[in-house]
Amino acid sequence: MTATAPREERLWSRCAGCSSLLYRKRLRRNLDVCPECGAHARLGAPERLRQLVDPGSLCLLPDLLPATDPIDFVDVLPYPHRLTAARAATGLPEAVVCGTATIGGHPAALAVMDFRFLGGSLGCAVGELITRTAERALDDRIPLVLVTASGGARMQEGALSLMQMATVSQAIAGLREAGLLTVSVLTDPTYGGVAASFATNTDLVLAESGARMGFAGPRVIRQVTGRELPEGFQTADFLLRHGQVDMVVQRRSLRGRLSALLAAAGHCRPSRPSVPRQEPSPYRERGEGQAPAAGEAGAPAVGEPQPAVRDAWDTVRIARHPGRPTTLDYLDSVFDGFVELHGDRLGGDCPAVVGGLAKLAGRHVMVIGHQKGHTTAELVARNFGMASPAGHRKALRLMRLAARLGLPVVTLVDTPGADPGVSAEEHGQAAAIAENILTLTTLPTPVLAVITGEGGSGGALALAVADRVLMLQHAVYSVISPEGCAAILWPDRRAAPQAARALRLTAPELCGLGVVDEIVPEPASAAHDDPAETADRLRAALLANLLPLLDVPPATLVRRRRQRFRRFGTARAGTRAGAR
Ligand SMILES: [Zn+2]
Repeated sequence: MTATAPREERLWSRCAGCSSLLYRKRLRRNLDVCPECGAHARLGAPERLRQLVDPGSLCLLPDLLPATDPIDFVDVLPYPHRLTAARAATGLPEAVVCGTATIGGHPAALAVMDFRFLGGSLGCAVGELITRTAERALDDRIPLVLVTASGGARMQEGALSLMQMATVSQAIAGLREAGLLTVSVLTDPTYGGVAASFATNTDLVLAESGARMGFAGPRVIRQVTGRELPEGFQTADFLLRHGQVDMVVQRRSLRGRLSALLAAAGHCRPSRPSVPRQEPSPYRERGEGQAPAAGEAGAPAVGEPQPAVRDAWDTVRIARHPGRPTTLDYLDSVFDGFVELHGDRLGGDCPAVVGGLAKLAGRHVMVIGHQKGHTTAELVARNFGMASPAGHRKALRLMRLAARLGLPVVTLVDTPGADPGVSAEEHGQAAAIAENILTLTTLPTPVLAVITGEGGSGGALALAVADRVLMLQHAVYSVISPEGCAAILWPDRRAAPQAARALRLTAPELCGLGVVDEIVPEPASAAHDDPAETADRLRAALLANLLPLLDVPPATLVRRRRQRFRRFGTARAGTRAGAR
């Protein structure tokens, strides 16, 4: 609902659905659902909690998070100014409110997002708070209920906000392993990194009537495809029709429905978790054998001294150079005996993802990577390396197969992002990415990821939750493309070079933030000038990183992998480790 004239706004609201002028008190009594047309207005987190939980049962989890600006982000405004304004406008410290409560007498841990706070964006603090809520659910052996409302990952925290998709997902994986129910309630709107992680990798997914959910937003899809979108695209009913949600629920029925679901889960007595809790938490000392903590100086690059640092925008252009070696090139030059495996076994074989069995210096591995191309025809045939849901599900199948065969997984990441098309949305792009991310946090075999060119947001992370993350010297890895970031925050696509600098997307910067463990230096000017030398260096780096992982027991491997991603939460708060 948007307010009418400022003088009247406390008394009257205009319905966004039918434009009726409604008395606010009457609207509130009707749970902010228009009595004329049934449109569900957006709710802030405090009001949502008031509607959902039993009166007097809510026990808020502490916020306790200092302000953080981990990459010193500035667009037209410094990020701390935007945070301060969001806090003043909402009265909330962050874009999520968390606590424990009962719903119809059934206990649950709840995390409720608030879209009014910077578009409900997922930053380090939000990821940390939801993760703590999930850990509280695990400790108390109660179900977890997430109410989502978000535009996606928070651009102002760069790749660190992208990492939160993995952090929260592994907390959900912990609840799965412990046999505890997880439920997400999609409210309007739920998009991007939130849709492609904890909004869709829970056991049950409910959509509130009128909610829209998707991986890519309608504006982006229209821009990319140049087509008008089908009627009702990405709405709750669309999601139900395409098998992506369990049910669509009217707001007035939501509490009763949740209560019934929690009651069903309450009948089973879950066993203790089979996988050990992820201790110690990131605030404490890191254990032996781990990569450097975020904020420490990055691991030194192997090989020769580094040439002068390039401008971030120049690096973006090199990362996208059509001559840059592709995954199939590396399969030919770095690996031996590649046997490609096709298909997701559900109806498709995505050409933007290739994978199969190969050997690395005589050792069997599973290699999965995005495939672009060198010519326009190749790029078109491979959808520019933008994976469809079938591509993500093929990758998932191969990861699981590798785990069963005891083979390490090597992923080669080079994608502008996951496919932002109509068909991808119809086939559950968000859930496909979310399931890959969650599965990688549980995979009982070594996983080594290399960002070889473009590491574009959730589509990249779907192959990059790994024990070790390497990055070619002139690759980039980012929560959003510089053009996309510029269009939203400046707002002017021509500000892409500034956005590229602000996002801290280069290998040295990401190494400094702990997102990347090691830089693989490129020869002379860049990889495309000497693919053979690049291949030799990549092979050496892969071997050096893989061999130490081979003897680590699977449970230890998984525990360390989770520690690696767990530390991107409030480990960041208060520290300012931007690449400088
Ligand atoms: Zn209405």
